[in-house]
Amino acid sequence: MDKDKALKNMTDLLLAKARMLQYHCGNCKSPLFEKEEKIICPVCGEMKVETEEVKEKASDTKTSKVLVKKRDELLLKIEKEKNPKKLTDLLEALEKLNKLL
Ligand SMILES: [Zn+2]
Repeated sequence: MDKDKALKNMTDLLLAKARMLQYHCGNCKSPLFEKEEKIICPVCGEMKVETEEVKEKASDTKTSKVLVKKRDELLLKIEKEKNPKKLTDLLEALEKLNKLL
């Protein structure tokens, strides 16, 4: 990608209310942007960077992602479970999870 394109992407990100971060892309050294919990490099696209600030911000999202994953796992187990006692336990766990989400 050429510099003009990167600059245009950067402008687009700013226009889209993305916030410029103090971090730079490890690949191309462009300043990184944050938008809707995502870190975006104007040159490389969406990034998976792990900086303390980003991690902190993402922690809520991460928690709910873990819970959603657990709920999916539970639903799979519930689907297969034939033992009524175990099924009750699973449903109780699911109910608790749903309250957190
Ligand atoms: Zn980059």
